[in-house]
Amino acid sequence: MTIHKNAAALLEIIKKANKNRGSGKNVILLAACKGQNAIAIEEAIHSGITDFGENRVQEAQQKWQGLRRQYPAIRLHLIGPLQTNKVAEAVTLFDVIQSLDRAKLAEALAESFIKSGKKVPCYIQVNTGEESQKAGILPQETDGFIGYCKKLDIPLLGLMCVPPADQPPAPHFALLRAIAERHQLPGLSMGMSGDFETAIRMGSTCVRVGTALFGARG
Ligand SMILES: *Cc1c(COP(=O)(O)O)cnc(C)c1O
Repeated sequence: MTIHKNAAALLEIIKKANKNRGSGKNVILLAACKGQNAIAIEEAIHSGITDFGENRVQEAQQKWQGLRRQYPAIRLHLIGPLQTNKVAEAVTLFDVIQSLDRAKLAEALAESFIKSGKKVPCYIQVNTGEESQKAGILPQETDGFIGYCKKLDIPLLGLMCVPPADQPPAPHFALLRAIAERHQLPGLSMGMSGDFETAIRMGSTCVRVGTALFGARG
């Protein structure tokens, strides 16, 4: 019941935001469902959520095998780090990969796309806060990396970021947007439970919401 209530409130915010947007610039609500079981996910699906994000390939494989068959229209995004030895499995399972964060991974993805005949659209993850423990391409290296991915024929939807937890997020969202605009990349995956309304105001096209939808993780 709580999930349903939370989803309705979140989808209402999204709907209002999209009324003020130009065509092709809509924001979507992505449910970040790491640690959530199939029952919680089904409740979210029945509440109208169409996009889900998982952080780990193995967890996603276990949880989504049945769900994928049952709900073929749902889009599944990978939003956590991807090891190169899991690339083939990720390409099979996911509709979108949001965590493209290094050259080796870009090369492995490109190879897997050719082998499998399936191209998965990607977001490049940018480490806007230049945090040493965090994944992502450094802002000053992103222009070059975008060019490299294009050369490898990787379909790019846009950029993704997770700003530092202890800083106001707006400057990070602005930086991500500036880089994306420079390259005419339409997608901006930014905003989580604590800051998705700021992110929407700043042009986010995909907010990744976990706790505000499912409640606190156990
Ligand atoms: C867990 C997670 C989220 C959602 O975080 P909440 O604060 O629970 O909304 C968003 N993005 C990524 C990459 C995550 O791992």
